[in-house]
Amino acid sequence: MHPNGTAFTFAAAEKGATIPTTLIVPLFAKPQSPLELVARVDRLCGDAVTNLLAAQSLGDKVGQLAHTTASGACRRVLLVSLGDAAKLEPHHVRQAAAAAARWLVSEKITSVALWIDTLTGAGIDQAVAEWAHGMAVAGFKFAAYRKPEDGVPRKITVQLRASDGGHVQRALASVKELTTIADSVNYARGLAHQPANVCNPATLADEARRLAKAARLKCTVLGPPQLRALKMNGLLAVGQGALHPACLIQLEYRGAPKARATTVLVGKAITFDTGGYSIKPSAGLEWLKFDKCGGAAVLGVLRAAAALKLHCNLVGLVAAAENAISERAYRPGDILTLMSGKTVEVNNTDAEGRLILADALTYAQQKLKPTTLIDLATLTGGVGVALGKAAAGLMCNDDALAADLGEAGRRTHERLWRLPLWDDYRELIKSTEADIKNSAGAGKRDAHAIVGGMFLKEFVADDIPWAHLDIAAVATDENGTGPGGKNATGFGVRLLIEFLRRRGG
Ligand SMILES: [Zn+2]
Repeated sequence: MHPNGTAFTFAAAEKGATIPTTLIVPLFAKPQSPLELVARVDRLCGDAVTNLLAAQSLGDKVGQLAHTTASGACRRVLLVSLGDAAKLEPHHVRQAAAAAARWLVSEKITSVALWIDTLTGAGIDQAVAEWAHGMAVAGFKFAAYRKPEDGVPRKITVQLRASDGGHVQRALASVKELTTIADSVNYARGLAHQPANVCNPATLADEARRLAKAARLKCTVLGPPQLRALKMNGLLAVGQGALHPACLIQLEYRGAPKARATTVLVGKAITFDTGGYSIKPSAGLEWLKFDKCGGAAVLGVLRAAAALKLHCNLVGLVAAAENAISERAYRPGDILTLMSGKTVEVNNTDAEGRLILADALTYAQQKLKPTTLIDLATLTGGVGVALGKAAAGLMCNDDALAADLGEAGRRTHERLWRLPLWDDYRELIKSTEADIKNSAGAGKRDAHAIVGGMFLKEFVADDIPWAHLDIAAVATDENGTGPGGKNATGFGVRLLIEFLRRRGG
């Protein structure tokens, strides 16, 4: 399940190595990067930077490009605007890098020098690492099922150049961490894009087994017989209409075997969501293959944690099912007894994610003794109504966990905004025929994202720090406003690695 795209590799210039003929120079537009910095890079390109800046001002929008031919060792120079120095945040660096990456791909350039002296601001090492991350996610392209375009480079080497060689060495160490993470972000995105005729619960489990082998993780897959024995009737019911039955994928990474703390991540992987008998409208149905983004992100986090050798214990649970329509499918009105023993009236078969997550959360608590429990799911359209694409919804029963996740979100620009789980909302899932119902009811849009969180809260013990991340709006970037273009974003992978790092991982 591997997509095509362009991979970027970063290296220092070997002693005496020739400089690539294309040079990238990131520059602030406001105030302009200091002349002495510009003068140093001008030596590589026969004053092309100064001449270009004299002829045209650099646009102050992050990622605006200006290019010219040059007469020095470098024959072409690309200036990339970093915008306003006072407003620079790490994600702006990624945005600028992504614009440069797309230009390189369109120009079919395979080797380039990057001048890093001017990448100041948050600290040069961090800025260069963000740059590398931005290029890596911009290089993602889901083209596994088409012929490669003529001449589009599969690999671009970026040679770091600075007036001080020590800068390059230090920067490369930070680059390694963020490109390792970006690689797993892209892995999660590639999984997310796989169409439902290829990616179903069974093939997703195969992929998890492959990943476990490559990353030395422990993988267990529970199929229908085991799920029945455990009474995971939510997961079974949601998957019962599909050709490929539901499964629960468990991946374990033990990076701190002596420590007691275990973080369990639970991901929703609905490989295709028709809505079931509460059928979705036809417009945009093809996007419903992305209803597995939570599960894909969980696999991505486990992959990155193993690659970075994080000092932590991590279990990933992916609840995988296809919400299909058939004579076997579950129906509105069905009453299910979930693994926890709670009964649920299904008044909406399109509110299926919470049913599979409820069972996975119960399983996590009964079998894995988590000290922190976090679920990720493309759960509700309502979260987008509340927050748009600027943040994922965070619902949490523990202030310290909410604060740490929030800080990780700020640092990675995978931002979270906390929504309340007040008892007032409990009213909305009260059922007359079962313990609770799985949605407020047709047409009832009040507190839509929160209702999802309230439902899940019913299945989590109060003394276990738990967070629910509703990533429905941020898992894909339909407008291509982020560095990764019009694709799945892999939201959650970098966020959770940052969270685990902050917790000592
Ligand atoms: Zn649904």
